[in-house]
Formats: sequence, C-alpha cells, structure tokens
Amino acid sequence: MNFDVGEVEKQLCERIKGLLSADTGVDLIQPEGDRMQEVRTTTVRWLTSLGREGYLTPGVMDGRNSVSLVVIQEQLAALAPSLFLSVEASTRIFGRLIAAYGTSTQREAILPGLTSGQLIGAAALSEEGMNIENDPLNTTAVPSTDGFRVTGSKGHVVNAALADWIAVAGKIDGEPETAFFLIEKGSKGLLIGDRLATLGYEGAVISPLRLEDCPVPSTHVIRPIDGNNALKTVRLWEDQVLTAASLGLMRRAFDGAAAHAKAHQSGGKPIIAYQEVGFKLAEMLTLFQTSQLLAYRAAWMSESGDREANALASCAKVFCAESAEKIASEALQILGGKGYLRGNPAEEGYRDAKYLQIAGTSTEISRMKIGDAVLAY
Ligand SMILES: Cc1cc2nc3c(=O)[nH]c(=O)nc-3n(C[C@H](O)[C@H](O)[C@H](O)COP(=O)(O)OP(=O)(O)OC[C@H]3O[C@@H](n4cnc5c(N)ncnc54)[C@H](O)[C@@H]3O)c2cc1C
Repeated sequence: MNFDVGEVEKQLCERIKGLLSADTGVDLIQPEGDRMQEVRTTTVRWLTSLGREGYLTPGVMDGRNSVSLVVIQEQLAALAPSLFLSVEASTRIFGRLIAAYGTSTQREAILPGLTSGQLIGAAALSEEGMNIENDPLNTTAVPSTDGFRVTGSKGHVVNAALADWIAVAGKIDGEPETAFFLIEKGSKGLLIGDRLATLGYEGAVISPLRLEDCPVPSTHVIRPIDGNNALKTVRLWEDQVLTAASLGLMRRAFDGAAAHAKAHQSGGKPIIAYQEVGFKLAEMLTLFQTSQLLAYRAAWMSESGDREANALASCAKVFCAESAEKIASEALQILGGKGYLRGNPAEEGYRDAKYLQIAGTSTEISRMKIGDAVLAY
C-alpha cells in the first residue's frame, strides 16, 4: 500500500486553495427566487478555472479512484462543499459514465467540454418512492423510428437545472439491463422541476425531473453491452465522491473548531485549556485521521484493481459519513452559541452531514452489501 502523494497533486492542492481562498463567496448561490442563469454562470466560471488547473480530469478516463484523487477532492470539498458536489456530479459521475461506457462519438462530443469546464453534466438514477437497490427502474424507453421515446421521473438530481447533458438511467422495454439515455438541455419532453430546498448543501442545485415521451435518438443511448454493470458502477462512483465529501466536511469542521478553541477565551483562558474541550478535539482528530486512512486504502485498492475494492469502498463510505456527522456535531458544540447561529461552517457542516449517510448507497444498504461481501470471502 502506497499513500505517497506526488508533487503534481501537492501543487494542484495548493493551486485549488489559492483559487478558492481568493474568493470568499465561492460556495455557489443559495436558493432565493429564480436565479438559475446566475448559478449556471458561476458554476461554469468555477468549472473552467478548475479545469484550467487540471482538477477535472483525474480518474475520469479510467473510472478508478486513486489516493491522489481523493486528496485533491478532499481539498475542494473542505473549501467549497456545494461546489464540490456540483463539480463531481458533472465529472466523476456523469463524465466517468461517458468515458467508460459511451460510444466514441459520445466521448468526442461531450468529454472535451466537460473536462475543460465548459459543459455541465448530471446523472439521474434514483426514482422517487422506490430504492434502486430493491426495485427495478420505472423509467422506460420504447423503440421509435429513429431511436426511443422515454418516460419516467427522478426525484433528486444534482445539476439537473444547470446541465447541458443529463444521463437518465432506465430500461429499454423488454431488456433486463439498465441503459442510460443522454438527454440534451432543452429536449422536447424533458421537464425540470423547481429547485429543491434542502437541509444542507444548499448551494448545490438539486431538482426533480420528468421525461414525458421524450424522443432520444439511438446515438444518444448507452446500451447495456454484454450484461455490463453500468448502474452498479455508477453507484460505486457516487459513493466514492460522497466519501471524499465526508473527508472535506471533517477537515473543515475540525480546523474551524480547533482554531476557535485556541482563540476563544472563557474564564480567562482559551477553551482548549479545558480538558473536556481538548478531549473532544482529540476524539475528532482520531476519527478524522482514521477516516482518511480508510478512504485512502479504499482508493488504493480501487487503483490497484483489488477484488475486495468495492467492499472496502462501502466500508469507507459508511465510516466516513458517520464520522463526519459526529465531528460536525462536536465542532458545533465547541463553537457554542456562535456555532448555533445560521451562516457559519460549523452549523453548515452539521446540516450537510446527514446527506452523506442518505445519498448514494445509504449506510443501511451499504452495511448489507458489506455483509454480503463478507459472506462471499
Ligand atoms: C440532496 C440530494 C441529492 C441527490 N442527488 C441525486 C442525484 O444527483 N442523482 C441521483 O440519481 N440521485 C440523487 N439523490 C437520491 C439519493 O441517491 C437517494 O435519496 C438515496 O439513494 C436513498 O434513496 P431514497 O431516498 O429513495 O430512500 P429509501 O430507499 O426510500 O430509503 C429510506 C430509508 O430506508 C432504508 N432502506 C431502504 N431499503 C433498505 C433495505 N433494503 N435494507 C435496509 N434499509 C433500507 C434506507 O437506508 C433509508 O434509511 C439525491 C438525494 C438527495 C437527498
């Protein structure tokens, strides 16, 4: 196992830090009326800057996680949590799908724009009222003269209202495997719902969508090839992104709490001098460091193609997401009344944390998958 991070990644982390700390209003625009065009312009501006720095390409073409990728993801997730979700949904989820399973024409048409930040992508997998682990997808395509007509709905989709392309998971009538339909912005029959008001990650644009007899040419379909497991793989990528988001959340919460504990005085001394506060920080650091190690190990196993890589990815997702909630809670406690006020990183992290246990493969289902993997050992 090699956790060395090369000079290239270290420099990229520094450049991301420089890029984002220069702008305090970085973390996208929170819902307030209909300002979608403004959010899109801001998102493209950030995507383009990140693309120029080389942030958008690692792991896209080969679909594999790596320790160095997790390190740079953690950096962005700590500095701008909502921007991170938006960027990763576009590149490390949608982009990877196109790179790994798309046709050469689809790759040529979409990937250059996506990895340079000019285009935004989204992936619509889960459907409202059912879990894709338990039930077949309801979104269905029926053949038409030049391709398919697709009908279905998706409950929550990051970037749906901003995206140039949305990959919608569904079934071709009569075929058992999942296909992906690449729907271009403005397509007939594509209806994007209002931006959802969420508990956390409020800067990310999350909306439901509906396809009503939406015409999709066959050139815009990623068909199942030899019973491929594209849906399973895309879910794994989602979980890897959410693991990195958890690391970023922990770093942001820990750094903020530690700085506050050293600077804030109570009873004539900095609160870190009180053992109770010091112990909290010790526990937080231990959880954070353990999470980091597990996430790096899972990434390293993915990079080296280990057969247990998927089970480890689930272990890392569960542990990091649950640790993130604990750390966010303790960070808020250390900030006291100040932490409870709206609009500071401690309370934001506390609200964001719950998402990480629900989204992608939920912690309950992840545990079941880990159990199944153990059974097969
Ligand atoms: C803010 C936000 C953004 C999202 N963005 C996207 C996106 O961009 N693209 C996308 O495709 N999806 C997206 N999602 C959907 C997300 O992936 C799902 O919410 C998630 O997969 C959980 O599914 P569910 O909401 O249907 O919950 P359910 O599956 O209904 O689960 C409800 C509860 O029951 C438990 N449960 C369900 N089945 C089992 C089981 N078999 N065993 C044990 N426990 C079980 C779950 O763990 C959970 O605790 C987003 C969700 C949110 C909240």
